[in-house]
Amino acid sequence: MTKHIFITGGVVSSLGKGLTSGSIGLLLQQRGLSIRMQKLDPYLNVDPGTMNPFQHGEVYVLDDGSETDLDLGHYERFCDAPLTADSNYTTGKIYHSVIRKERAGKYLGQTVQVIPHITDEIKSAVDQLRGDEVDVVITEIGGTVGDIESLPFLEAIRQFRLDKGPDNVMYIHLTLLPYLRASGEVKTKPTQQSVGKLREIGIQPDVLICRTEKPVTGDMLDKISLFCNVPREAVLVEEDVEHSIYEVPLVLKRQKLDELICSRLALPEGATDISQWEGIVEAIKSPKGTVDIAVAGKYIELQDAYKSIYEALAHSGITHRCKVNIRRVDSEAIEEQGADVVLGGVSGILVPGGFGERGVEGKVDAVRYARENGIPYFGICYGMHVAVIETARNLCGLDKAHSTEIDPDTPDPVICLLDKQKNVVDMGGTMRLGAQKCLLTNGKAKDAYGCDAVSERHRHRYELNPGYRDRLQSQGIQVTGESEDSLAEVIERPDHPWFVAVQFHPEFQSKPTKSHPLFDQFVAAAIEHSAGRVSVASGK
Ligand code: GLN
Repeated sequence: MTKHIFITGGVVSSLGKGLTSGSIGLLLQQRGLSIRMQKLDPYLNVDPGTMNPFQHGEVYVLDDGSETDLDLGHYERFCDAPLTADSNYTTGKIYHSVIRKERAGKYLGQTVQVIPHITDEIKSAVDQLRGDEVDVVITEIGGTVGDIESLPFLEAIRQFRLDKGPDNVMYIHLTLLPYLRASGEVKTKPTQQSVGKLREIGIQPDVLICRTEKPVTGDMLDKISLFCNVPREAVLVEEDVEHSIYEVPLVLKRQKLDELICSRLALPEGATDISQWEGIVEAIKSPKGTVDIAVAGKYIELQDAYKSIYEALAHSGITHRCKVNIRRVDSEAIEEQGADVVLGGVSGILVPGGFGERGVEGKVDAVRYARENGIPYFGICYGMHVAVIETARNLCGLDKAHSTEIDPDTPDPVICLLDKQKNVVDMGGTMRLGAQKCLLTNGKAKDAYGCDAVSERHRHRYELNPGYRDRLQSQGIQVTGESEDSLAEVIERPDHPWFVAVQFHPEFQSKPTKSHPLFDQFVAAAIEHSAGRVSVASGK
């Protein structure tokens, strides 16, 4: 029988519910249990694909092409549970489905209501992940308890325990113990209130995980236990970690969360092996060196806009035992102050995926700077487009070359829409999305992967225009990876120490336990560059 854990959040958002959920998944998986992970988001967008990173951080893409919440990235980085479209539901997706059924006459004349129709739809979304081979489904509820929009989800998970039986469903509530600097105290009242709100709805949490930036005393935990009606041993503390988010599973394991869950859900006895994870944390704590890498984008002030890129760089740092210092560079600052000022001294430059005009010229100039100075360059998706534009303009003499995404009337559309995307008007879920095969020919990418064909995830509309391939090649750009239908997937500059740009998003497949080969090779090239072992490239 599949068991269920529901994870809710209280007091404030951004407590790290995704990280905690991923960590719980890891602990159970390392105990030999088969798990599935899921996120339910209370907003009305059908998926986050159409949302601005300012609103919602990065859009995380799955193999099946689903555009999902960035917490699914944490799930994949922490554990190996397969993720699909059923792993992320929003209020919009739930309502979409209910309204479609209503229009098709499926409700046989009934009045369609939040309870039971919306709540039934939510429960059936959770049911999708059950199965004979699944021991535990972990479902994270987005938002904060007390929000109007989370209510149908909370009502549905309350009913879920009634439906499946008390031994088969448990609730974990992640909450905040705020620190008041003026009085020098950590406060428990907001947590009491938040649990009070949950109990009003009919949910009694089985475990509380208290986030705090300062240590808390046993007395406070006793008090929380008493007021929140949660056994003392099930009140855990998740203090801010010092070095890395990858410490969180160790913090929870030390407080025996794995054992608490297994006894609460009557899961088999067992031992949790997190030795590999301890090794990772050890490597993060004691790097042998550091390297500075610039990530030039337009959302640098946001932690979450390039989340998977930052994580993938950190993973390769673990592999090379080197701390990667990321210099987040605003590509508009490159336009205003010049590449020398903004990028001076870095040992690698990465231009990530992006959309739209703002900052694009700064990105093109970042590519020029990397090319002329022999600095390792890694372009991802939009970062490949700007690499192509740079060579077209500065080396092929096509001064006005551009992507038609930015300049539809450019005389030299080196990046353009190919036929399949030309007539698309619906914006949601219509890009070239998800895992596609890429065939590699000799070059650095093929060396890195060590094979001829790879599968990588995509999220884009625009492509390298095949009509310009020869001219680009005459100026040093080699296409070293292609899709099965001959679209350019990887370009390289063999005349440069390390210059690779890809149309796909390798960052979505990097894990701390298995860093991505392209990121590994890029970080290795940056380390070599910083050691001064590379002579400055020809800089044509
Ligand atoms: N905006 C570009 C496109 O749609 C690149 C997308 C991306 O970088 N993810 O093709």
